[in-house]
Amino acid sequence: MYELKVKTHFAAAHQLAMVGTKCENLHGHNWKIEVRVRGEELDNGGVLLDFGVLKKHVAGVMAGLDHKFLNELPDFAQVPPSSENIARHVADRLAPLLSGAGVQVHSVTAWESDNASATYYL
Ligand SMILES: [Zn+2]
Repeated sequence: MYELKVKTHFAAAHQLAMVGTKCENLHGHNWKIEVRVRGEELDNGGVLLDFGVLKKHVAGVMAGLDHKFLNELPDFAQVPPSSENIARHVADRLAPLLSGAGVQVHSVTAWESDNASATYYL
C-alpha cells in the first residue's frame, strides 16, 4: 500500500451555532487542508498518481470554498461548516474525481489553526 499526501489551503468565513462561545460570531480562518490518498499499484513511471493530477483535483475543490462565506454555500445548508464537516466535504467531493485513477481518498484533515484540526476518514 502506498500513500500520497498533499497540502493546500483556503481562506473563508463561517459562523457556528455554539451558544456562548466566540464561534457564534462571524469570523474567518485560513484553513490548511491535508489530503491523503492510497493505492496498491504503481504505474510504469513508478508513481501511484502524478502529484500534478492530484493537486489539480484538490485545487478544483478548494476553488469552491476559497474566499466564501461557507454558511451560504448549498453544501452547508444542512450541516454546519465546522472543520469536521469541511474535511468531509472535501473528501466527498474529491473521491469521485479520483475514482478510476487507481487511488482512493483515505482521509482529509482540515486545520483551522496551527494547533487544531479535524480529520474525516472515508
Ligand atoms: Zn471558526
